[in-house]
Amino acid sequence: MARITLDNLAHSYLPKPTDDDDFALKQLDHVWNDGEAYALLGASGCGKSTLLNIISGLLIPTRGRVLFGDRDVTRADTVQRNIAQVFQFPVVYDTMTVGDNLAFPLRNRGMDPAYVAGRVQKIAAMIGMDQVMNRKARGLTADAKQKISLGRGMVREDVNAILFDEPLTVIDPHMKWELRTQLKALHNEFGHTMIYVTHDQTEALTFADKVVVMHDGRVVQLGTPEELFDAPEHTFVGYFIGSPGMNLLEAEVSGHMARVAGHEVPLAGGYRALDGRVQIGVRPEFVSLSDDDEGLPVTIRRIEDVGRHQILRADFAGQPINAILPEGAPVPADAHRLKFRPERVNVYLDDWRVPPLHSVATPQKEAV
Ligand code: ADP
Ligand code: MG
Repeated sequence: MARITLDNLAHSYLPKPTDDDDFALKQLDHVWNDGEAYALLGASGCGKSTLLNIISGLLIPTRGRVLFGDRDVTRADTVQRNIAQVFQFPVVYDTMTVGDNLAFPLRNRGMDPAYVAGRVQKIAAMIGMDQVMNRKARGLTADAKQKISLGRGMVREDVNAILFDEPLTVIDPHMKWELRTQLKALHNEFGHTMIYVTHDQTEALTFADKVVVMHDGRVVQLGTPEELFDAPEHTFVGYFIGSPGMNLLEAEVSGHMARVAGHEVPLAGGYRALDGRVQIGVRPEFVSLSDDDEGLPVTIRRIEDVGRHQILRADFAGQPINAILPEGAPVPADAHRLKFRPERVNVYLDDWRVPPLHSVATPQKEAV
């Protein structure tokens, strides 16, 4: 296994890239720690597969280096890098049985037959296919074939890393949860470095210890699920993660106060003068109905009961604001003001988070 370092990396699919827009992957420096489980999360087209294929060796980057440990593998192929990769759509040998498909990566490396049999049995049980080991792959559903692909990706214990590129796209929703749990169990047991690409925040947050969020060819934040929730470093992380995502409002900020469409919003930390596009961001979990005359005047559009809590959707000066309220909490008919928890309001300058001048006491962990 290996630590993977991306050094000054960038990639363009154009032969002669000139400006930033020509790069599918913008300048990137990043270290993937040995043995960690990462999710690579971002919207379609943001460069996730490009990055994964550079790590696996399917793609040679336009600029920069890829290191496994201290070894420069930038030009080494997938086999030399000793990587397993699972793609979005199944890659199986139709004429082989399920068992032979699973055994293939091991037999290919001349592993001992007794070991192969045991290992294949274990992986087959994990993907729920131990009852159909002797069936030919041809004629199986796409779903079953993808499970075989996943099994093949996981069968070798001696790989440097396992890369998954949206592997559960064709899997039915119940099995998705099951397989994700299995992947996590496999990670806990063998400690492979795993990078799991997805555009689905639930998948990312449940699978990974660390989530790498990409937006428009850049890594905008690497963090634990808690860090992404508490302090989104980029507005994209704020609104992409969370359900609903973070509220963002155009603002002017000075000292301990933000002004939003002429109304004051108190901030817990103080801020330097900011020159550029300024926004404040607050997650719906930290927005509440005001019980006095303070707070932003809003028009309540609707209240959705989603079981564990209610989502209140309101309008403020033409901008939407969402609040998450406790299940069953009464919303008076004349409610018309919303308040933000000051220590939970983040400030953004040109989409990047600005830390307060003086550190604010870390908010207490709470159930949200
Ligand atoms: P993701 O996996 O996040 O959906 P990709 O890495 O596949 O994103 O794509 C990133 C960008 O690079 C997109 O704009 C896509 O259109 C472009 N791209 C991907 N593959 C190729 C290719 N082989 N040739 C040219 N452009 C490509
Ligand atoms: Mg992709």
